[in-house]
Amino acid sequence: MPQHIVVVGAGVMGACTAYYLSKRATGDVRVTVVEKTAVACGASGKAGGFLALDWNDGSEIGELTRASFNLHAELAKSLNGERYGYRRVETYSVYLSFGSGKSNKEIPRENSTIDWLDTKRVRSVDTLGTVDNTAQVHPELFTHALLEDAVATGHVQVRCGQGVASLLYGDDDPTKVIGVELDNGEKIDADAVVICMGPWSGTLPMKGRRRNMLPITGSRAHSIVMKPEKTVPAQALFTAIADGSRIYPRPDGTVYMCGPTDTEELPQSADQVKVDSTATDTLRSLASKISPILASDGTQVVATQACYLPISRDGVPLIGAHPNHQQLYIGTGHSCWGILNSPITGLMLSELLLDGRISCLDSESVEAVDPKNRCS
Ligand SMILES: Cc1cc2nc3c(=O)[nH]c(=O)nc-3n(C[C@H](O)[C@H](O)[C@H](O)COP(=O)(O)OP(=O)(O)OC[C@H]3O[C@@H](n4cnc5c(N)ncnc54)[C@H](O)[C@@H]3O)c2cc1C
Repeated sequence: MPQHIVVVGAGVMGACTAYYLSKRATGDVRVTVVEKTAVACGASGKAGGFLALDWNDGSEIGELTRASFNLHAELAKSLNGERYGYRRVETYSVYLSFGSGKSNKEIPRENSTIDWLDTKRVRSVDTLGTVDNTAQVHPELFTHALLEDAVATGHVQVRCGQGVASLLYGDDDPTKVIGVELDNGEKIDADAVVICMGPWSGTLPMKGRRRNMLPITGSRAHSIVMKPEKTVPAQALFTAIADGSRIYPRPDGTVYMCGPTDTEELPQSADQVKVDSTATDTLRSLASKISPILASDGTQVVATQACYLPISRDGVPLIGAHPNHQQLYIGTGHSCWGILNSPITGLMLSELLLDGRISCLDSESVEAVDPKNRCS
């Protein structure tokens, strides 16, 4: 069992990995989370935080997602989920029309709970989920809550401000990772290193394999957070007004809205992510069209932001041991379901590191996300 584990990246994957390691660690096991910029500074602080039990059913990660949705419910009990905005929500797909003609059709009676939208514009409403199978968290608060709890166990420390520049390899065995070197040249010894660098996971040089870094890229998306004067109910909305636009009212009275991805190149670090004001203005204007409450002058925009989804080549996350580098582990590439699938990722990695095998999922599900054959 490794005595010192370095987790690279303090997004939601790094936080969940540190959290489950801290819960399952015995004796002198130490975990150091190394974060280049700040805790939850990337997508983990700027995501929607929507969770769905069964929306990945039928795919490679169907069972993994179900297990993770249930872990979120367990975590909400043990960590007091209210403090990070965990709640079950009703989820709708809403089609609104902005043509000149107004609909004579009012929102159907059974959907009158979404009457905070411009009811004259609504053409159809379909229920996508209920409180039985959809939920939400505030991702930034969730990430902080996990890390705070992990640090409180005494097994975990978090170091922010210096990124990992490279991996260190043993002299006797050049495939064995024995630590990391930071941007300032400081070296940290480790018995195991876990890469949880989100979209930056593909930028870390590996010995002799500069051209064969992890197969992960980033895809940028914008979002805004609004604070209306009136409270909006606990609902998640998927709208057809702009490709991929989603709206999540939160328990703190804010309303989160995100839009489609674009092709802007991944910058070197999270603090260099550029926000295109045209994209956030478009979101603001769409929000006003959708809802008189959001259109009101009293609605403040409290955040305009952008972040990058971590994308793997085949769209399936990479969770497990690197096939060619000993003592190197990976938890990345979760695309648009990273908040949902972070608890199971952290639990899987903690089992692999501390027990030598993953037992929380069936072997087929473990195999589906195994980096084996998917990393060179
Ligand atoms: C607009 C948007 C909405 C989303 N909505 C949802 C949603 O509703 N539900 C859901 O489940 N998922 C959602 N997601 C997806 C989710 O946000 C991501 O999958 C998840 O946050 C990825 O977490 P991560 O920890 O892998 O990466 P990140 O959050 O990107 O964290 C990586 C961390 O690594 C650090 N790092 C980078 N390089 C180094 C280095 N060299 N050394 C040390 N640290 C380094 C970074 O600074 C960063 O803190 C959304 C994503 C976007 C973009």
